[in-house]
Amino acid sequence: MIDVIIIGGGASGMMAALSSGRKGYKTLLLEKNNKLGKKILATGNGRCNFTNVLASEKDYNSDFVEGVFNQFNVEATLDLFDSLGLMKLEEGQGRCYPASEQAQSIIDVLEYELNRLNVEVWLEKEVRQVSFKNGLFKVDLADSSSVISKNLIISTGGISLPQSGSTGDGYKIAESLGHSITKLVPSLTRLKLKHKHLNGMSGVRFTNNIQLVSNGELIYETYDDVIFNKTGISGLGILSMSKYANFSINNNLPTKVIVRLVNSDEYTLTKRFETLHYKTVFNSLIGLINRKLIVPVLNEAGIRNYDTLVSKLSTKEINKLIKVLLGFEFEVIGSDGFLDAQVTSGGINLKEVNKYTLESLLVKGLYFTGETLDIDGKSGGYNLQWAWSSGFVAGLLRK
Ligand SMILES: Cc1cc2nc3c(=O)[nH]c(=O)nc-3n(C[C@H](O)[C@H](O)[C@H](O)COP(=O)(O)OP(=O)(O)OC[C@H]3O[C@@H](n4cnc5c(N)ncnc54)[C@H](O)[C@@H]3O)c2cc1C
Repeated sequence: MIDVIIIGGGASGMMAALSSGRKGYKTLLLEKNNKLGKKILATGNGRCNFTNVLASEKDYNSDFVEGVFNQFNVEATLDLFDSLGLMKLEEGQGRCYPASEQAQSIIDVLEYELNRLNVEVWLEKEVRQVSFKNGLFKVDLADSSSVISKNLIISTGGISLPQSGSTGDGYKIAESLGHSITKLVPSLTRLKLKHKHLNGMSGVRFTNNIQLVSNGELIYETYDDVIFNKTGISGLGILSMSKYANFSINNNLPTKVIVRLVNSDEYTLTKRFETLHYKTVFNSLIGLINRKLIVPVLNEAGIRNYDTLVSKLSTKEINKLIKVLLGFEFEVIGSDGFLDAQVTSGGINLKEVNKYTLESLLVKGLYFTGETLDIDGKSGGYNLQWAWSSGFVAGLLRK
């Protein structure tokens, strides 16, 4: 008799298999792809930003994570990977990568350990449905075979980057077992903007204050990276606010992003234009903002003649120009949704899950990990940390 079947050999599923294997449970890991951890290969631009030393519960949508992090935190994760031979390379803002700078290393060390622990791994085994009867789980596979186990861990991920295998199967299975799923919204996406100068601004990047305004209300503010591209805007700050922007757009609310272009204030900028009164308005902005932004900024301020001398501008025009420099407004028209999302916001309702064991409160012996749960974190290693922590804790099969 199998003690536990884990559905999904992604980050959290592999970790759950390691944890249950170490506890001596007879473990079977089922993965529908022909290899483990396909999504991990896409993380951190192929380098896998596998954790963040600064991660804490406040970096996630819910303090539900606390009970799990108290049992298996960042330090424990780094120790575990270190013990498997994977050294960390720490970069800015607490981001950690494997020293090899290859995402594949993460998969390799986990796979080696699963093999050493005699965890059974079945590849190309897609789970179609699950039933629970007399305290046992019957797991039906796409090849028409079935497997039975005493416990079941659903580690099928969310619905972001579906080509990696995460297509939301776990939500359907959980629903069939009585669980409810909260609203699913793409998170950590680029945003599409409506602006005629995007082509010219493409490639401009900087760090500054960014605000997200939905239906006239400021709903998110951060100081982080911004990168313009041909269809819109990305960068860490934008990724972090994207789920709120996507939610706002999905609800047909007018949504805009306001980007501060210069770290200055009204008084200092007014003085600057007084001092540079002899220059053309175009030249007066050189040295202050990226050259690619000058024409868009002047247009936004309603100044069409870029060769006008600053001294010839009216006070109203100068004030408008300063306003744009301190907060350039862009209308958000959407995103590429789950196809472009790094993470799925929403998932299995946390009210139906024990936050210390990750066992279902509805079905005994059923556990959830990673993105299947209604947990999502910031960009920067936080989501994989949740996958490791939740996987490890669920694999202990605590009741
Ligand atoms: C492009 C991109 C970059 C990212 N970069 C980072 C980063 O640098 N740092 C970070 O922390 N996070 C990053 N993330 C997020 C991170 O990858 C995920 O949060 C994490 O992988 C979730 O782990 P998981 O185990 O919940 O699900 P997944 O890793 O998605 O694994 C789910 C697994 O279940 C399998 N499966 C699904 N259904 C079935 C079924 N019916 N039968 C059998 N198997 C099934 C899938 O094939 C898949 O292998 C990134 C995500 C993307 C898309």
